[in-house]
Amino acid sequence: MNIFDCIVIGGGAAGLSTSLTLGRARRNIGLFDDGTNRNRVTQESHGFITRDGTKPHEFREIGLKELEKYPAISYFNTKITEITKGKDNERFTVSTEDDKEFIAEKIVLATGVQEVFPIPSVRDYYGKSIFSCPYCDGWEMREKPLVIIAEDEEYMLHMTKLVYNWSKDLVLITNGVEISEGGALELQKRHIPIKMEPVKKLIGADGHLHEIEFESGETIARSGGFVVPRFYRPITFVEQLGCEIDENGVVVTDGMGRTTQKNIYIAGETEKLVPSSLLISAAEGNKAAIAVNTDFTMERF
Ligand SMILES: Cc1cc2nc3c(=O)[nH]c(=O)nc-3n(C[C@H](O)[C@H](O)[C@H](O)COP(=O)(O)OP(=O)(O)OC[C@H]3O[C@@H](n4cnc5c(N)ncnc54)[C@H](O)[C@@H]3O)c2cc1C
Repeated sequence: MNIFDCIVIGGGAAGLSTSLTLGRARRNIGLFDDGTNRNRVTQESHGFITRDGTKPHEFREIGLKELEKYPAISYFNTKITEITKGKDNERFTVSTEDDKEFIAEKIVLATGVQEVFPIPSVRDYYGKSIFSCPYCDGWEMREKPLVIIAEDEEYMLHMTKLVYNWSKDLVLITNGVEISEGGALELQKRHIPIKMEPVKKLIGADGHLHEIEFESGETIARSGGFVVPRFYRPITFVEQLGCEIDENGVVVTDGMGRTTQKNIYIAGETEKLVPSSLLISAAEGNKAAIAVNTDFTMERF
């Protein structure tokens, strides 16, 4: 059957949670996921109470297993390539990369975000020894010799101060970006070296960082660290569907996931375009599901 009450795009924490709540509310749901969740590179996820230390693929498997109990939820492991709006947003046609079409009255966008790194080769170490969230991975990196990699002064100071809670052995790398005298003084009072020279390469094996080499040929030994990436929405459904976005790139909602476009809802990291956590995304998915179900109830009662 290709007709659903609601199509949920994205089967991360947000989309799984949305689907669970809507399935339990006896709505007919199509959940689509293409396996590009940004945390797939990491070994373990932390901080989700009852799930601390779970591998990302296990988290998904447990979520999908729980959804199987609810017969009105259908899961599709495929990429959504297009969403077409019908008249007055009363009906949406969703197309997949394998040329199938599905129809729904409402859409939930839970498609997450992706990262761009100040030094592209950080990707080789991301999720194994270089991370972006100290709350997620600071504990595992505690008391190790770490590097902070960032190019924006506000974020580099914030990340360095934050990570100092887990390790005092820090080096800040700005990759050629000058830091202000005031900013440098703040870190010097904690004896944190700042390297402003551009990085030539990261050296390590199997995702485990060993050294950083600068353009001058100097190397420093580090066993991991934290990076401040730039985040973006890899797919432009929000823009294509005409949802209002504010000057910071945040999708305008009513706080329950309703966008400014009727029958289009949003949940998880893709809404605010900033990193959060599995728990926060799951909670936002739950809120969006309540909004969807409330709207169905009022429309159909
Ligand atoms: C290295 C790393 C470590 C992390 N560690 C932790 C941790 O320890 N604890 C923690 O709480 N958080 C951690 N996070 C953050 C966590 O992964 C995110 O906060 C969370 O995954 C966001 O959930 P989401 O549902 O919004 O997005 P995602 O989990 O990214 O899910 C979005 C989903 O949408 C799907 N999708 C996107 N576009 C399409 C499309 N066109 N068609 C079909 N499907 C699509 C993707 O496949 C993806 O599965 C970590 C992140 C990274 C990168």
